[in-house]
Amino acid sequence: MKDDCMRGLSSKEVLELRNKYGLNEVTNNEKASPIKKFIGVFKEPMFLLLLGTATIYLILGDIKEALIMLIFVGFVASITFIQEWKTEKTLNALKELTAPDVKVIRDGKKVIIKSFELVPGDIVILSEGDRIPADCSILEVSNFSVDESILTGEAEPVFKNISKDVQDNEEYWKKDKLYAGTLSVVGTCTAKVELTGYNTEYGKIAKIISETKEELTPLQNKIQTLVKNLAIVGLILCITLIIATYFYNHDIIKSILAGITLAMAIIPEEFPVVLTVFLSLGAFRLARKNALMRKISAVETLGSATILAVDKTGTITKNDMEVKSVFDGKYVDINDFKDEYLSRLMLFACEKDPYDPMEKAIIKIANERIKDTFIKNFDLELNIPFNSETKRMANIYSRDDRFYVAVKGSHEALLHLCKMNELEKQRILKEVDFMASKGLRVITICDCDSKELYQDIEKYELNFRGLIGLQDPPKEGVKEAIKLCKQAGIRVVMITGDYNKTAMAIGNEIGLQFKDRAITGNEIDNMSDEELCKEVTNCDIFSRVIPGHKMRIVKALKASGEIVAMTGDGVNDAPALKVADIGIAMGKRGTEVAKEAAHMVLMDDNFTTIVSSVKDGRRIFDNIRKAMVYIMVIHIPIICLSLFSPLFNLPQILLPVHIVLLELIIDPTCSIIFEGEEAEPNIMDKPPRDPKEPLLTKMLTFKVILQGISMFAAAFIPFHYMVDLGVDVDYARSFALVVLIVSNVILVLVNRSNTQCIFNIFKEKQSKARLLINSLALIMIFLIVYIPFLNEIFRTSGLEIEMLLLAIVIGVISSIWWEVIKIIGNNKKTDIRFNASEFKQ
Ligand code: ADP
Ligand code: MG
Repeated sequence: MKDDCMRGLSSKEVLELRNKYGLNEVTNNEKASPIKKFIGVFKEPMFLLLLGTATIYLILGDIKEALIMLIFVGFVASITFIQEWKTEKTLNALKELTAPDVKVIRDGKKVIIKSFELVPGDIVILSEGDRIPADCSILEVSNFSVDESILTGEAEPVFKNISKDVQDNEEYWKKDKLYAGTLSVVGTCTAKVELTGYNTEYGKIAKIISETKEELTPLQNKIQTLVKNLAIVGLILCITLIIATYFYNHDIIKSILAGITLAMAIIPEEFPVVLTVFLSLGAFRLARKNALMRKISAVETLGSATILAVDKTGTITKNDMEVKSVFDGKYVDINDFKDEYLSRLMLFACEKDPYDPMEKAIIKIANERIKDTFIKNFDLELNIPFNSETKRMANIYSRDDRFYVAVKGSHEALLHLCKMNELEKQRILKEVDFMASKGLRVITICDCDSKELYQDIEKYELNFRGLIGLQDPPKEGVKEAIKLCKQAGIRVVMITGDYNKTAMAIGNEIGLQFKDRAITGNEIDNMSDEELCKEVTNCDIFSRVIPGHKMRIVKALKASGEIVAMTGDGVNDAPALKVADIGIAMGKRGTEVAKEAAHMVLMDDNFTTIVSSVKDGRRIFDNIRKAMVYIMVIHIPIICLSLFSPLFNLPQILLPVHIVLLELIIDPTCSIIFEGEEAEPNIMDKPPRDPKEPLLTKMLTFKVILQGISMFAAAFIPFHYMVDLGVDVDYARSFALVVLIVSNVILVLVNRSNTQCIFNIFKEKQSKARLLINSLALIMIFLIVYIPFLNEIFRTSGLEIEMLLLAIVIGVISSIWWEVIKIIGNNKKTDIRFNASEFKQ
């Protein structure tokens, strides 16, 4: 058994088993069949309208028109199809990245794989905070308990063991087995996978219970309401139009055709598409920069974060501990430290094979000073492990019927157990403060000799032996990142289990805003929620905090109106991560439970990555807003043209074909061009967006209306002027279409940035997508105007060169005038960037 354990499965065996048993997955989201998806596309209103138009043309006997409509149906269907397929691919890739990790032994090596890659026979190594990935039988355990409430309903964790009591065997839930979906609470365990996927107990249940669907993000909700409202307005307008036109021409079919044309113009089908594309692609890009989004909604929340509440050790600091000085009755620099007794005690008081960098650092300097193997004569009788609540640990050794107790921890957790008078205690506290004020983490170290063995450190009477001062410098770039946050109106709050003086020294070094005060865990305990709420507004450091306090801190910050991003790694952090607006789990140090609870996983555990994702969050939101504005603007001329012509019984400029054609340009324009736009240069100089602020603020609505009407006028007025002069309608239509398309291309270039001038595109690196789509639009209109075959389909006719130039000039002017407003806005220094933060009511 032991040998098996060391080797694990070979890659070849894994492949065979995978073919036999499939992936270790329990998902209820059945993959929709392609046919179902295909039918789904046809449920979209746009297609129904296109099909409706085709039918009407058929009734009218216009076979050619009907065919053209059907060709367009094919076109639009394939675009929708490709887009959905791409989005799904991104989302799946994201899902795969966020799948839980599990440590296994394969080919004799410890490797980390995704839990869905497990096969029966795999040897897994589980530790505290892991979600059990499959049904397993236990090979080795150490103090391992599991919360099985998800299956059994029992809240009490169950201790697991290898022994096979007959009694145990009668129970359904066995003590020597682990069940998929349950949660390890403490200890470590090695186990062999027996059943995976739907064969597990959890899988059997999951088959019955349907999984909760991914919720819509707040933005998606807002958009849905907007779409619904627009749809209602559209419907009313269409009916009005149908009735009104019927009065003119008494031709019901023609009236309906006019109504359908208008409906096609109004349907805001791009909105939801833009959102899903922007958010999922945004999440995908963030993942490549080490910020993994577990909930898509986090992408949009990130941009409005006002507080980043982060753990000190390992996120802000390097967690690269180094012993700098020691106090053993007198304060000595580590280079002058020689005390053998204390060095030996350090070895006694540390974990035997530690992972914690602090333990490693202490062992390192002790080993450099101790040559003997004295410690080998002792047997470790009991280890009382460190935890962040007690803030101390002990190793108890037995020798000759007596026990030797070696303890280390925070001074608050130990000094009261030490034999010493008040004067000595004061002296030591002064020393602690002195070391802490240099930014050192101070560890108190004690020991004693005892006849009795107690499980509780409180029961021993200890001898104070010394203080160890460890340095853990801030990571590179943290100071700059915090400065950037300040500019961006984001407050950084540091949370740590360390002593307040140490925390304040570090806070000072990295430039926190309120760095001269720290609220301690004790103070939090003595405060009411209201008091805490008041205090959190002007303090950036929380010291001597246990995970339980984090929850209260998040709640207090949220109650005072902040949007809180909070980091965490342990099992106990999970509740606070859930409550935070953006819970951020550490990718390297974090437990699986913390990751599950989080909205986002920080793959490199680095504070600067959080700040850059906030910036990305803001950019993504900005781009969504720009795309939305663009869609609204471009729809105004389309809607007005298809409404006014029939309403006033004027010759129709836009026929259904033209509207579909325009949609074919608009769609990729917003979902490709605007998605890829760079961040505004001043994006981190503004305060965070108020999440309650509407997507379309008053100023933006104003912009939309002005730009839209200008485009409408540029197409409408010349057209009717020409028609009144007796020019052929097809000729005038050619002119109007050129104006519209040119105006659209310029609009994209104008609206891509609120601050950058349009001519900047010649200076910076060209976005290939933008160039391609804009050129295609221009080439298309050129072909439509000059190719006789297309003339027939689109009811156009060739323009003379002067007229073509005139149309181009009118088109350019109708959009480019907004640049003047941008320049005025930028020169005024005041923020007329139409981004609304000052226009809150
Ligand atoms: P942080 O939130 O900064 O990671 P911890 O909870 O890890 O803080 O540690 C809090 C305090 O507990 C430290 O300041 C130190 O006094 C004590 N401590 C930390 N690690 C150990 C350890 N391995 N052994 C003894 N004491 C420790
Ligand atoms: Mg720690």
